[in-house]
Amino acid sequence: MTDSHYRGRFAPSPTGPLHFGSLVTAVASYLEARSHKGTWLVRIEDLDPLRESPEATQRILDSLNAHGLHSDEPVRFQSERHAHYHALIDRLLSQRLAYRCACSRKQLRENDGRHPEHCRDGKAEPGERPFAVRFALHDEHSEWHDQLLGPQVQQVHAELDDPVILRKEGFYAYQLAVVADDIDQGISHVVRGSDLLDMTAQQQQIYRSLGAPPPQWMHIPVILNAEGQKLSKQNHAPALDDRKAIDNLKRALVALGQEQRLLAEASDIGTLLARAAANWAPERIHLTAR
Ligand code: GLU
Repeated sequence: MTDSHYRGRFAPSPTGPLHFGSLVTAVASYLEARSHKGTWLVRIEDLDPLRESPEATQRILDSLNAHGLHSDEPVRFQSERHAHYHALIDRLLSQRLAYRCACSRKQLRENDGRHPEHCRDGKAEPGERPFAVRFALHDEHSEWHDQLLGPQVQQVHAELDDPVILRKEGFYAYQLAVVADDIDQGISHVVRGSDLLDMTAQQQQIYRSLGAPPPQWMHIPVILNAEGQKLSKQNHAPALDDRKAIDNLKRALVALGQEQRLLAEASDIGTLLARAAANWAPERIHLTAR
């Protein structure tokens, strides 16, 4: 039975094949959804063709399947959603909740993050120069509750933090697309790595500007390598070996602090995941790293 109010997702950017750190996030979001008898979706956040590849997308999808992590609805690809993002950006521009900005990083740096040409106030039209579109944040002392980390306090600085939502190269950017699709897919609960924690207050403002209630967030600690760095493609995290899926899943459950006794004798992936969902206890996740 599906508890229709819970809708979760795993939303990787295909910058490389799935590694252990991304598997841990996928497993946590899957088990949260399953333990609530909810729906779990996979969405590929393929917004940046310069850093991402169709091969990586395919490898991620193959890997998820090999680990028994199947999306309950057809996988969504952000590369197929440009028209929707475009319409939202037009709407935000016309409501003056976003602005065109031709400032270079250097200019912004030299001006303490302020926009030297006052593009934020609509005083400068970028003309022929390449421009980005930025979301206009407002100053806010944001207090919200993370389902794992507890009470959070974040300061949002208007102008200084304004995120790019359409890049100068013409690519749609993460900050708008992730919110747009979470709204469109009716995502009620987001489970993701705590490397994205600092984005949350900004994203709450984007939700509000689009007239949608924000979801619940749960940020889980990122997995670190022996040097204490986040496992990532940049740090050469090895791709998962899909032939060892059951062992990878068991390791992921150990990394998530779950009761090993219950999992030890599960010899197939379906049994392991079902048992892990039935016994899922997120409060056992160790909060060592943020
Ligand atoms: N696509 C983002 C990433 O791979 C995650 C988006 C999210 O969970 O909010 O880092």
